[in-house]
Amino acid sequence: MQKTEINNLVRKNILSLKPYSSARDEFSGSDGVFLDANENPFGELNRYPDPHQKELKTKLSEIKSVPVSSIFVGNGSDEVIDLTFRIFCNPGKDKALTFIPTYGMYEVSAEINEVELIKVPLTGSFQIDFDTLENYLADEQLKLIFICSPNNPTANSLENIEKVLQKFNGIVIVDEAYIDFSKATSFLTKIDQYPNLVVMQTFSKAWGLAAARVGMAYSNHVIISLYNKVKPPYNVSGPNQVAALKALKDAAGFEKRKSIILEQRSWLENQLAGLAVVIKIYPSDANFLLVEMRDANRIYNELVNQKVITRNRHSVVQNCIRITVGSPEENQILVDTLKRLE
Ligand code: PMP
Repeated sequence: MQKTEINNLVRKNILSLKPYSSARDEFSGSDGVFLDANENPFGELNRYPDPHQKELKTKLSEIKSVPVSSIFVGNGSDEVIDLTFRIFCNPGKDKALTFIPTYGMYEVSAEINEVELIKVPLTGSFQIDFDTLENYLADEQLKLIFICSPNNPTANSLENIEKVLQKFNGIVIVDEAYIDFSKATSFLTKIDQYPNLVVMQTFSKAWGLAAARVGMAYSNHVIISLYNKVKPPYNVSGPNQVAALKALKDAAGFEKRKSIILEQRSWLENQLAGLAVVIKIYPSDANFLLVEMRDANRIYNELVNQKVITRNRHSVVQNCIRITVGSPEENQILVDTLKRLE
């Protein structure tokens, strides 16, 4: 597929849309008397933030080795998911596809946008089932494929994603929310090679900024300009841009915290493996473990009674709970509590 063909996938109303031009779009200098945006002249957060997050994108561009024109910053990657539906899928007509079990917002966002989401089950080893996928690829109404890797809640990285990029003529969104905890290489290096690739990442996990709501889409400039066209004018708040930029400037802190989490993941795996209530711990490439229990509902509820909150995933993977890797103290409390429950 050529970059020029991307526009054939875009909703017609989005292609012809004239985006809102904000005060800060029309005058972006920083010096002067600003009487253009109906802001309040008093206070600390009284001015609108940079609508294009230039400083943040410049730093991201340096760290990720991609041009600024290949970066979109959203109000969490959840905003990126929603905007992707709004750019490419005509409500009530177009379709998207994902591999289940996976992150629940693809489905919620699809429903909000009145888009049918085809759910192809992952194989027994939580990998892409290409035989089943083949049946859907020729459907002209299929515009998007969401691939979460490492996948939530199965914790593993998906193999052969590139095969999907090669076979599918629509947009492939690779959600790399957990990539920093993974041994797999990011698909970021492939955005030049595949014009239909969007890579999503977030500040919510390894960067430790879930409260700040900052997520990214990386792709070619054609796709990125579509995100910029449809986003709300000031979609990332000023304090959140500052928080993300500050985190990026502390590379040493990022590496240190990440290595503690990875160490703790191994520690937790070892500890859980020795417990009678634990049947299986799935290999993890993320900051959480999917754990099969003797009776997930009972264990989940008993943990809640002891004020230890995990995620009961029994309804999606039988008898499994999903445990986020916490601080050493938190993980010790979890293990001690589970020991008492045996
Ligand atoms: N993708 C995946 C796979 C997730 O698990 C999550 C959040 N749990 C998100 C995206 C949303 O991230 P954000 O906080 O950037 O909206």
